[in-house]
Amino acid sequence: MNQPNIKKFKKVMVANRGEIAIRIFRALSELGITTVCIFSKEDKYSLFRTKADESYMLDPEKGPIDAYLDIDRIIKIAKAKGVDAIHPGYGFLSENPNFVQACEDNGIVFIGPTVEIMNAMGDKISSKKMAEEADVPTIPGVDYAIKDLETAKKVAEKVGYPIMLKASNGGGGRGMRIVSNHDDLEREYRDAREESKKAFGDDQIFIEKYLKHPKHIEVQILADNYGNVVHLFDRDCSVQRRHQKVVEVAPAFSIPQETRDLIFKSALRLIDHVGYRNAGTLEFLVDADNNPYFIEMNPRIQVEHTVTEMITGIDIVQSQILIAEGYPLNSKEVDIPSQESVKVNGYSIQTRVTTEDPANNFLPDTGKLSVYRSGSGYGIRLDGGTAYTGAEISPYYDSLLVKAISHDRQFSGAIRKSIRSLKEMRIRGVKTNIPFLINVLNHETFMAGKCYTTFIEETPELFQ
Ligand code: ADP
Repeated sequence: MNQPNIKKFKKVMVANRGEIAIRIFRALSELGITTVCIFSKEDKYSLFRTKADESYMLDPEKGPIDAYLDIDRIIKIAKAKGVDAIHPGYGFLSENPNFVQACEDNGIVFIGPTVEIMNAMGDKISSKKMAEEADVPTIPGVDYAIKDLETAKKVAEKVGYPIMLKASNGGGGRGMRIVSNHDDLEREYRDAREESKKAFGDDQIFIEKYLKHPKHIEVQILADNYGNVVHLFDRDCSVQRRHQKVVEVAPAFSIPQETRDLIFKSALRLIDHVGYRNAGTLEFLVDADNNPYFIEMNPRIQVEHTVTEMITGIDIVQSQILIAEGYPLNSKEVDIPSQESVKVNGYSIQTRVTTEDPANNFLPDTGKLSVYRSGSGYGIRLDGGTAYTGAEISPYYDSLLVKAISHDRQFSGAIRKSIRSLKEMRIRGVKTNIPFLINVLNHETFMAGKCYTTFIEETPELFQ
């Protein structure tokens, strides 16, 4: 290994908001680094603002989302305030190669992978190609954008219905359509392209076999700047609604060890192949016969990183920062792990408490929190950012209120702690999904670790 090139940060900006901004400020503070917050006009009274050492308003004219996507303004503030590095969190600019490039051009370290890697792994088609090159199994289908209906028909026939039309740049569970027969293909293909163009800026659509009742299993990895990689075991994120995660579990104890080992090996091989850097997640679907297939890579911190932290004791956000400073894995001076030192201890469950009304098709609710009492205590970690009595829940951002994360020596104990925590919470003034989450945790399929990705859709009693 080359001599490590270490440059310690004095000041770091978080180009994000809400709970993840607070999570990152805390990691930075513990490392003795000054924290810089940026916020939109709409976030003027949001709690996360007050958790940083310095905070600066973005362009008030831009609007609530675009303010956080304003690369020029963000870089300008970072330079004016002497910021050494920027942590992008998740969403917003976290997977935007132009932002990574802008940081680089201005001598600011982007806490994440390089531009080249972001381009190579940033969309679903190119990451699928990379996986194939690295001999990692992918879902039957194609690894190119389907240019016309004729090709779509041929491919669909070959793959066999039901198929999935996927937007290469889709995310957040959007940009996916299941097509069950030939007659629907023409319309769905046309609509998928249009929708993708509108939502994600291009109309690249590819086709995959639609897997029935798969589990979503993902591997957390850390890679330093010198080619060393570790995995921090797996998470089971099968409890989803509309392809979006609702409850996450670590480790993924319910699939056979053989399958898990295969996934770890594949993940490390792929990371090695692309020369990945910093923290990342490789997502797999595991079919009913326990065959794993790579679906995509997330080159950033994820909402559910917490459950991995609970079972391994490794601070993933601090590891990201230390890696970006140039520390190698298994460094003597700081705490970034070697593979041998990563041990799994117990079970962890994360429930995403949102201001959504389960009785009304999970419509986001807004307004003033007239009461907010949280449920912490032994074995519970709460990662939040917006909630306190008197806080205003605005319609501008995602509806995540607080993440309740339990940890216990046994899975059943983690379930009990999660339920206890959710039951202790008193939230008034806005509707939440708490009763629904409790129903999920209490369900025998969840308790047995047998959830698959369509569990929520196919289990009407969860809504009672
Ligand atoms: P996103 O980037 O929007 O999160 P992903 O590719 O990660 O999309 O997929 C999200 C979820 O969509 C998966 O966890 C799974 O539930 C479902 N999904 C994706 N591809 C398939 C497929 N080929 N067959 C069945 N379900 C799929």
